[in-house]
Amino acid sequence: MALIRSWVESANRPDCPFPLNNLPYGVFSTGDAPRCGVAIGDMILDLAECEARGLLDAGGSFAQPRLNDFMALGRAKWDGIRARLTALLAEDGDRTLPLVAMAGADMRLPIRVTEFTDFYASKNHAFNVGVLFRGPENALPPQWTHMPIGYNGRASSVVVSGTAIRRPMGQVKGESGPEWAACRRLDLELELGAIVGADSAMGARIGVEDAEGMIFGYVLLNDWSARDIQAWEYQPLGPFQSKALGTTIGAWVVTQAALEPFRCEGAERVNPLLPYLREDRPGFYDLEIGWTMNGQVMGRTNYNVMYYSSAQQLAHHTQSGCPMRVGDLLGSGTISGPSPDQTGALLEMTQGGKVPVTVNGQPRTFIEDGDEIGLFAHAQGAGYRIGFGPCAGRILPAVE
Ligand code: CA
Repeated sequence: MALIRSWVESANRPDCPFPLNNLPYGVFSTGDAPRCGVAIGDMILDLAECEARGLLDAGGSFAQPRLNDFMALGRAKWDGIRARLTALLAEDGDRTLPLVAMAGADMRLPIRVTEFTDFYASKNHAFNVGVLFRGPENALPPQWTHMPIGYNGRASSVVVSGTAIRRPMGQVKGESGPEWAACRRLDLELELGAIVGADSAMGARIGVEDAEGMIFGYVLLNDWSARDIQAWEYQPLGPFQSKALGTTIGAWVVTQAALEPFRCEGAERVNPLLPYLREDRPGFYDLEIGWTMNGQVMGRTNYNVMYYSSAQQLAHHTQSGCPMRVGDLLGSGTISGPSPDQTGALLEMTQGGKVPVTVNGQPRTFIEDGDEIGLFAHAQGAGYRIGFGPCAGRILPAVE
């Protein structure tokens, strides 16, 4: 697929994250009521104002300070609005549209996060972390290649890019028993978050194909992790306080429609999956993804290393009869390639803090106060790219 040219000139640059092919949704404010918009070049198209002018019909949902009401209108409406926006912003489109400079807008959390589940779908990551926590013999749990495993996280601590994150206090294992301390092993996790745009009924088991149809789009997601708190608390019920300190997501939701040209296979299967998890077509995307610390690129890999797709995760999630809701957020799990410079967490990159990395000339094992972590991702097309915008957070000192 080639670049679709827009009359918004900044959208036509080959390195622009937001060409007309992308059209990611977000919620913004320019000092007044937050409302829905779509990114185009270095501008935001004010969708609430477009609807007020009668240029679009989304039932008034774009005037809301979240995308949930729009998403709830369903896939046919998503497709219709995308086609309409493409026509309005094309070279022969409407040059009187209400555009706002992105630089002057304040981005908000794009969705009301109704639920948050975090998975564990990179085999490299699961193995590397398993070695560090349990040794090489027990690194990969026996069920791992048979089903997507995850935990029910906290929706209440999901924040938008740019929000500062406080280093948590917590209970950690000391030399002679538990200690109350500020986290000493604060880490990031490089993930992609799938946003569910449709409800399912309690008791309904969703197949992989139908599950894919329920996914509205994707955001960058940093699952901040307190490794010392995690190591002491996680067995046998999994992470709890170590993951509740905050989860940062990007402000722009890249739709599944924008990523469709980049669909590809994921990691090679070790064994056949049970029928309910089998996919007729691959559910991954060729998406370069990575992270920075204080502006320096630290890790870089591709989403296509993943073993389970978001559709498989969503399908598995419903097999007990658990209903899904509009605004459900599904974290992919840390995205790590096989080599240290392809890892999406410091735990792996520094081998549990044993091998420091150098950041702007300074050694680091884990994140220190004042450090800023940023995530980035894009799919590369011929002469254009589908970008996600920033997903950044700076660490504030603990309050003891
Ligand atoms: Ca995670």
